[in-house]
Amino acid sequence: MGALFQSRGLGTVRDLLFFFPRAYEDRTQLARISDLQEGQVATVALKVVGTNRIPLRGLGRTILEARCMDESGTLSLKWFRFNPGIEKSLTPGASLTATGKVKIYRGKAEIAHPEITWKNENASAQIGRIVPIYVELEGISSRVFRKALWSALEKYESLLKEDLPSSLLAKHRLPGLRDAVRALHFPPEGISIEAMKEFRTPYHERLIYEEFVKFEFMILRRRLHLKRENAPSFAEPSSQAAAADLESALPFKLTGDQRKTTAEILSDLSVPHPMNRLVQGDVGSGKTAVAFLAAGAVIAQGMQSALMAPTEILAEQHYRNAVKLFGTKLSVYLLTGSTSTSEREKIAGRLESGQPLLLIGTHAILEEPVVFKSLALVIIDEQHRFGVDQRRTLRMKGRRLARSGEEILPHTLVMTATPIPRTLALTVYGDLSISALREMPPGRTPVKTLLFRSNEETRAHSLIREQITAGRQAYFVFPLVNDSEAEGFTDIKSAASEAERLQTEVFPDFKVGLLHGQMSSDEKQEVMQRFKSGEIQILVSTTVIEVGVDVPNATIMAVAHSERFGLSQLHQLRGRVGRGQHASLCILFTSSRCSNESLARLEILSQTTDGFRIAEADLEYRGPGEFLGVRQAGGLPFKMANLVRDQRLLLIARDDAITLLREDPSLERSENWSLRQFFDREGSIQFERLKTS
Ligand code: ADP
Ligand code: MG
Repeated sequence: MGALFQSRGLGTVRDLLFFFPRAYEDRTQLARISDLQEGQVATVALKVVGTNRIPLRGLGRTILEARCMDESGTLSLKWFRFNPGIEKSLTPGASLTATGKVKIYRGKAEIAHPEITWKNENASAQIGRIVPIYVELEGISSRVFRKALWSALEKYESLLKEDLPSSLLAKHRLPGLRDAVRALHFPPEGISIEAMKEFRTPYHERLIYEEFVKFEFMILRRRLHLKRENAPSFAEPSSQAAAADLESALPFKLTGDQRKTTAEILSDLSVPHPMNRLVQGDVGSGKTAVAFLAAGAVIAQGMQSALMAPTEILAEQHYRNAVKLFGTKLSVYLLTGSTSTSEREKIAGRLESGQPLLLIGTHAILEEPVVFKSLALVIIDEQHRFGVDQRRTLRMKGRRLARSGEEILPHTLVMTATPIPRTLALTVYGDLSISALREMPPGRTPVKTLLFRSNEETRAHSLIREQITAGRQAYFVFPLVNDSEAEGFTDIKSAASEAERLQTEVFPDFKVGLLHGQMSSDEKQEVMQRFKSGEIQILVSTTVIEVGVDVPNATIMAVAHSERFGLSQLHQLRGRVGRGQHASLCILFTSSRCSNESLARLEILSQTTDGFRIAEADLEYRGPGEFLGVRQAGGLPFKMANLVRDQRLLLIARDDAITLLREDPSLERSENWSLRQFFDREGSIQFERLKTS
């Protein structure tokens, strides 16, 4: 048996104790045979009358039937597959308890494949209570798990070590670890099965709270630690002067939030410890300008800066903007996969010579031969598109040793147009400072969003025709590049085939272009250029246009199969329209099979353009993977806690972690020793993968 558990990843008693049930079943009441109803799951105390084998004609198999009774009637237990052992145990007169789904067959109650508890065995784990149901790992039934857990708790419960300081438990009146672990397997009397299912008992809360407190303490301590690392500092007056100089070259006035965020960054840069700041702001909120001003401050004071974007299109666009706006004031270079060897060599020379400059590029910047002499500010645009490792690599490119031998690290600024829900900001990004650009530059009319059923194409086409006739341009977005034969995808429209259909059948009088991620960057560049110049009026695309396409004359977008996208992603997509002075429209097509829940979810987009609200809704519907990438979300160390359900506990735990960190940062007080031992034992391992810089 031990080997079987082991092969399921339950190598130690501790693993077993923390293998919590997936559900519960109420077996507090015993039913009487005469009261049984068809379909009911019941537990009945029975006496065996006799057994017989019923041959299944033609199949060469037999059914085992045990005729049983209680004082109210008779009932058959049936096994369609059975081992001979069970037949032997079912001797006439034997007492047992059977649980299972009741079937009434020809007026007689029967239960197929019942779960049996024998009279003479310890039944406390199996009946007369709310019993746990486990994920039935192959070869191990819930019944076996219950037995194993019951005896594991009896024998080893006292060895479970409490990590939480008793002061915290007392403060929130939370039960101790042993009580909590036992209760999750075998809920005590008085706890309702609903509360158990919803994780709403003091026992659940205690375990959730523990995960949050440990996590927040760890991540906040890391933030404190960053404050101890060294970074080049830039005197605020000089930074401000440099930023003001660049600002004067802008064709617009900064919004209040841009101003405030810039000031926050310049203030961070004036401190000789690495900045670690996240700027979040909706598409079009003007993050780039802020990034340029920050880079300008660093460059003006003789150091280098790098801006990394997730796509070539975006990197090139940033580069052209920077050159256009600040070409006379800043040295700007572009490094992407398509940069020529001679240009690369030139850039390498500049970087190594320590020339103050801004290097804009894609992940090509991360490659081995790229060496900075004095990288002081790392900027990562659309940071959620990058992995943790890539962000760290870029930061490490700026690592130097000072003459004193001390290590010096660059400042880091990460930007995202996917506002991050508060709970995620406090967990995954808990070690970052956060600035928000909520205010949009003036003169924008919010994009109007409409939900269309897929059979309302004609109506959508005439709206698009109207816009193009008025001189505007349109986007069509599809989830796939090409038609797919894969299961579940055959009904999905693809960009390539729809581009052709739209051109030949729907809009033969307009020019339709196609853009997708499988094209070479030259091809993409060319299509984009033709769309920008107005030669192409309808751009059919995949989500590659999600970031970095800026064509103010485009005023209408239609998204096919919109239920296949996340809300935040759709919000980003629709940010491609509404960039000029004309009113814009976004049409979200939904398939006829789209569920009511999906429709309600999409409805949020037609109600608001506030990315922060949309992010909260997205988290609720689609979970943290939507924001972190599945891999990173999987890296969150929460087994019990749920960032949507348990927001309240997270905030409480965070407050407690802050207090703890303030009062006893090294956990030296005796009452905090248990927690300290936990961190010494497994703290860093448990949390290592979550570094966000
Ligand atoms: P995002 O936050 O999506 O990266 P960008 O930085 O690309 O936004 O800015 C979107 C557009 O708004 C650009 O064309 C930019 O020049 C313009 N812009 C930025 N800030 C302002 C402002 N304060 N006033 C007017 N236009 C602005
Ligand atoms: Mg941007």
